Amino acid sequence: MIEFRQVFKTYGRGVDTLADVNFGIAAGEFVFVSGPSGAGKSTLLKLIAGLDTPSRGTVLVNGQNVGRLPARARPYLRRAIGTILQDAHLLDDRSAFENVLLPLVVTGHSRGAAVNRARVAIERVGLSGKENLRPRELSGGDQQRLAIARAIVNRPSLLIADEPTANLDRDSAHRIAAIFRDFNRSGVTTLLATHDESLIAGYASRVLFVDGGRVVDGGPRTPGLGAA
Ligand code: ADP
Ligand code: ADP
Repeated sequence: MIEFRQVFKTYGRGVDTLADVNFGIAAGEFVFVSGPSGAGKSTLLKLIAGLDTPSRGTVLVNGQNVGRLPARARPYLRRAIGTILQDAHLLDDRSAFENVLLPLVVTGHSRGAAVNRARVAIERVGLSGKENLRPRELSGGDQQRLAIARAIVNRPSLLIADEPTANLDRDSAHRIAAIFRDFNRSGVTTLLATHDESLIAGYASRVLFVDGGRVVDGGPRTPGLGAA
């Protein structure tokens, strides 16, 4: 479903943020992207989402070369990917429910179908009863739940999230991770970037470790072991 072939990413004339990155992710996998702050985790996710293009090499998503996609094909790829990125702001002049409804309205669903789907999404992330609150009235964990609901409401086959538990306490972080796990179990390929080793240790999942421009494939790992 995702393939990186000899991918380099260099900003300006600086050092390579990513250098000769090669890996593949199959449909249905649950993968952590780990590594210290500034390692290139966000860059990796943005290349997958088509929000940035590689300096060299090829990024394939669903068999399509993301870096070379014609402008008219981009919206279709974006719809197949649910993103929870760090700069993905929730709209504070609207209710939680309207935040989830918006992506459906954009993709042309009828009002009735959109409302039904938004309800299902809100229920799945555990936000039922909080539909009428504004994002800023929600706790940090509930804001992440809302961002997840908005990301999955169009039923993407791929879900990518950048540090979705960064500002949460440990229990809340684990509850958010469990929501991603549930979506993965229902068939959605899921990538979670995090520098939180304790979060990763709770799951026997594959880890891609990013550091110094390189990506080391940790493969499947045993819970409780140290960094790959
Ligand atoms: P992480 O998500 O692991 O914290 P990032 O992917 O955000 O790492 O950043 C990796 C490196 O690339 C950092 O040194 C950062 O300064 C640099 N970088 C990221 N985005 C840009 C950009 N748009 N312009 C210039 N440098 C950038
Ligand atoms: P319909 O529009 O056909 O009535 P629903 O919106 O009620 O469909 O959703 C059907 C089922 O799909 C529900 O059980 C819902 O939880 C599930 N579902 C919705 N979105 C996703 C998603 N992104 N990934 C996996 N399952 C989803």
